[in-house]
Amino acid sequence: MSAYNPYDNVLATIETAAKQLGYSPSEYEHIKYPERTLQVSIPVRMDDGSVRVFEGYRVQHSTLRGPSKGGIRYHQDVNQDEVSALAAWMTFKCAVAGIPYGGGKGGVTVDPTKLSKGELKRLTEVFTERISPIIGPETDIPAPDVGTGGEVMNWLVETYSRLRGELTLGVTTGKPVGKGGSLGRVEATGRGVTITAKAAMQALGREIRGATVAVQGMGNVGGISAKLLTEERAKVIAVSDVSDCIYNPAGLDIEGLLTFIADGNLLKDYTGDVERISSKELLEMDVDILVPAALENMINKDNAANIRAKLIVEGANGPVTVEADAVLEQNGIIVVPDILANCGGVVCSYFEWLQNLADDYWTEQAVNQKLEEAVSAAFKSVWEISAEQNVSLRAGAYLIALKKLVEESA
Ligand code: NAD
Repeated sequence: MSAYNPYDNVLATIETAAKQLGYSPSEYEHIKYPERTLQVSIPVRMDDGSVRVFEGYRVQHSTLRGPSKGGIRYHQDVNQDEVSALAAWMTFKCAVAGIPYGGGKGGVTVDPTKLSKGELKRLTEVFTERISPIIGPETDIPAPDVGTGGEVMNWLVETYSRLRGELTLGVTTGKPVGKGGSLGRVEATGRGVTITAKAAMQALGREIRGATVAVQGMGNVGGISAKLLTEERAKVIAVSDVSDCIYNPAGLDIEGLLTFIADGNLLKDYTGDVERISSKELLEMDVDILVPAALENMINKDNAANIRAKLIVEGANGPVTVEADAVLEQNGIIVVPDILANCGGVVCSYFEWLQNLADDYWTEQAVNQKLEEAVSAAFKSVWEISAEQNVSLRAGAYLIALKKLVEESA
């Protein structure tokens, strides 16, 4: 059995969309390859005086529609294929969302929970220095992803600005508010997940109010999704993180859980009124909405046939493999694909970048309203083309994106 390679998923999805659009390989072949890949070594002085060398990547998949844009991941499993796949998904996501960016992604193979704050800062400084020749506000703009957040983005801005000799806030998005960040950015991806979940339920003739929800991964995306879905009166009954999965059929105390997590705790230490369940039980739970918001390859050929959720909203990038997608479709399970479901993050990143370039900052209400408009419009166009062509929402989203990319390269 060959090992899972997320880039194979990217290629398969591009091929399907190209066939559906009747494109010849010469029209779309170039979109199958990242434009540029930079691999760097990152020597870091550790607190005990030793030096450890980490591996890092920045991949620019496409600049056809604008500067490449995409997060930086700190995780022990990061590798070049994963970063390339994540970069390609960004290209398609930005095209579906209708924002003038291409796609990029970065990553460092490191478990950030094992490093001190000082070590993480030094790692970020060296990584920034080594990728600095290819990033910049007009060329390639990083953002947070798994294992990174506002603080890492702030260190990145400080290092890049020092190298360039001037404060360059636009080199990254997802910065803390007060350091060039946008109001609403932290919540934007989860907000987009909630907007698309609600829109999908509506389009299916169902109500979000009272719908049962399971969320895999209570990080930035999953945690905010759980919070905002609860505000929409959905009932979040199961959630997980890397350490454990918890369940309460009457609905979990999401506010309490988020405070507990924000204090640096893991779910395995949560002492609220919950049952412990396995990751398999969470994914295969009979719920109205399943939000996988952790990592890739969680719903795959081994468990796809057991999935009982009615609707899957992909908070994470690539949580459902191509093989699993076919099984879910056969079983009538609707999937709101990652490039649509979690596009709220990059849409708000675009707003942040605009605010930085104009040095004009918007209210949170204005940000959220523009976000709602953009994500709802993207959902509507994907839903319509999928219905018209009688294809899945993923296929519909890729039809829209690939068409824009091919037209841009003609
Ligand atoms: P994060 O680091 O804030 O959170 C990740 C969460 O997943 C943590 O709770 C972690 O404990 C959990 N997790 C890790 N492995 C797990 C496992 N095997 N089972 C269950 N839970 C597990 O990361 P994030 O920013 O929320 O990103 C999550 C996903 O969303 C990623 O696929 C990322 O690429 C995608 N995404 C993030 C953004 C963003 O703005 N942050 C935007 C679009 C997409």
